[in-house]
Amino acid sequence: MINVNGTTDPFYRYVMPKIEIKVEGTNKMIRTYIMNINNIAECLNRTAEYINTYLGQELSVNQCYDKQTERFYVSGKYDQQKIQSTLQKMINSFVLCKKCGNPETTNTISGKKKNMTINLICRSCGHAVELNNTDKFVKYIILHTPKIDTTNERSEKETEDDGVNGNSGRIGKSEVGGIEESEVGGIGKSEVGDCGGEDESDTDSIDLDNI
Ligand SMILES: [Zn+2]
Repeated sequence: MINVNGTTDPFYRYVMPKIEIKVEGTNKMIRTYIMNINNIAECLNRTAEYINTYLGQELSVNQCYDKQTERFYVSGKYDQQKIQSTLQKMINSFVLCKKCGNPETTNTISGKKKNMTINLICRSCGHAVELNNTDKFVKYIILHTPKIDTTNERSEKETEDDGVNGNSGRIGKSEVGGIEESEVGGIGKSEVGDCGGEDESDTDSIDLDNI
């Protein structure tokens, strides 16, 4: 186990497992699977999707959930240290309290429509800081409202704001498009296709036989 805040203090109480990775595939299809991402997500009180998205954005590669093997991966070949240090960057920016450094924080959405912002709120000292909503990861969080610590207040807001999803979807797509073209080229397209294909085949298999 290692300290969530990246220190080596043996008395620090917030710990998580070291990231375990497995590189599979060849040439353009090579992928780095994050084997224990769910474990780490639990320790950080964030979802595996968040973490994997951050890794993909920070490394400028596609990332995806492989439904067949139930594993998260980023495209390309990375060593453990690279993935670990990238995760640490995410923790420093989006998990640790900006005031007291405590990792018991939540990302809470406030505001409406284009003015939606994310606050990093500390459960320990109560400090709240607004995250920069021009950051692409912050944009992602806004589009994928945290499922952890949701409140009734928020779901009401969502139903009011019909326009939000349309706007946000557009931002998301253009970003992904840009990354694929400039950085990864052909790989991106086929990989994203894979993910979609798996989804469809799964839903197909549900309504067989028993009718
Ligand atoms: Zn704090």
